[in-house]
Amino acid sequence: MREKSLRQLSSPGRRGHILPGLDVPEMGLEKLIPGQHLRRGAPPLPEVSEVDVVRHFTNVSRMNYHVDRGMYPLGSCTMKYNPKINEETCRLPGFSALHPYQPEETVQGALQLMWELENFLCEISGMRELSLQPAAGAHSELVGMLIIRAYHEKNGNPRSKVLIPDSAHGTNPASSASTGYTSVEIKSNRKGLVDIDSLNAEMNDEVAALMLTNPNTLGLFETDVRQIVNIVHERGGLVYLDGANLNALLGIFRPGDAGVDVVHFNLHKTFSTPHGGGGPGGGGVGVSERLSPFLPVPRIVKTGDVFRLDHGRPDSLGNVQAFWGNFGVMVRAWTYLRMLGARGLRRVSENAVINANYAMRSLQEHYELPFKQNCMHEFVLSGDRQVKRGVRTRDIAKRLLDYGVHAPTVYFPLIVHEALMIEPTESESRESLDQFIEAMISIAREAESDPSLVKGSPYSTPVGRLDEAGAARNLDVRWK
Ligand SMILES: *Cc1c(COP(=O)(O)O)cnc(C)c1O
Repeated sequence: MREKSLRQLSSPGRRGHILPGLDVPEMGLEKLIPGQHLRRGAPPLPEVSEVDVVRHFTNVSRMNYHVDRGMYPLGSCTMKYNPKINEETCRLPGFSALHPYQPEETVQGALQLMWELENFLCEISGMRELSLQPAAGAHSELVGMLIIRAYHEKNGNPRSKVLIPDSAHGTNPASSASTGYTSVEIKSNRKGLVDIDSLNAEMNDEVAALMLTNPNTLGLFETDVRQIVNIVHERGGLVYLDGANLNALLGIFRPGDAGVDVVHFNLHKTFSTPHGGGGPGGGGVGVSERLSPFLPVPRIVKTGDVFRLDHGRPDSLGNVQAFWGNFGVMVRAWTYLRMLGARGLRRVSENAVINANYAMRSLQEHYELPFKQNCMHEFVLSGDRQVKRGVRTRDIAKRLLDYGVHAPTVYFPLIVHEALMIEPTESESRESLDQFIEAMISIAREAESDPSLVKGSPYSTPVGRLDEAGAARNLDVRWK
């Protein structure tokens, strides 16, 4: 049954609140707000009871799919379970009721939390100093690339190019272009890793930086990372490491130890915050010592037991975000880190990697596996075999919805034909992994025996196949 809109549920005079009587003198609005800003009549809001509202939103939430309902193996996005204690801590009034203009001495706890989180992330990544201001991964990339540009400018020449492997996330070339650089693609070799000969051929003194994703978007660890860093450094370039895939590396590999100059974090991926329609993200950009002067201000500094905001860095990029960043996300990330501790964090990555390899090996006979070595926290299959029966990867993804599993990432990375990118995450039990694997095997069989069944799916969702591009381009949010 279709859920009615709140507007359709509206009934004149019905309401969901009772306000206490006024205990101050009543005053006309026109005394407080200039007349030209006042609306002429009441806005046409739906009139509904609390029961109507709660049932409406509960029903709507059941039409959607989310991590609290089932497995969400959306490669590259790390849709892990978000522990509920994160939500409790970030809603503590001492955090949630703060105002960004409060004097520093009244927000010591918040400053301490941010300072500690910065330090935890430096420890995890091996970087020297870190800013939590960026709002998400892509914003961190922009900030990181601006820092790289500022560094080269300070040395007399911003340079003109940025090297980006063909397995990179699409945000990397976008960030490089946004900072005025021309992207140069570096080919992957047959093992799905950066081809060292191509890198050597393209690296010269016009290259400002290499943007490396490790593990890369094929889910493979760039084992030559030190050699890659050396090649770039020898010719005066810097290395940017896209850390969106750090979920595979916690407590195991620190980019800073390999000589990387900039690393970004996706707090909402690696450190568990609802994302993807579920709330705002959080970023973070960590740098090596020589790039510290360019970090955004204010910096949080600790003297004795007192925390304060320091604006006094002459080479800083300045402020890159309204106030200090998405604070609620920082509280969640801090909670997650403190709950797990160092040992727990390492186990997160170990389990994420084991789960991915288990799923990959269970599926390799049923789908084309382009890269045969063990994967990190995610892996990429190709739908090439199914395409011969007329079933495309898009159809496999839609059919999975009928089996109660969210679809994996599809058609990314671009270098794998009919790609299916699967990231189970550490949150999934053996049973839920098996459920996913069985669904994928069933679909592979259906693609053989009854291709049109798969092509017509999904059958069990509130809506079937939508015009996805059209829905984004022709937004229609008017009340009907
Ligand atoms: C998710 C992701 C990004 C972008 O991060 P957002 O937080 O979505 O802006 C960049 N690079 C990689 C490899 C990613 O997986």
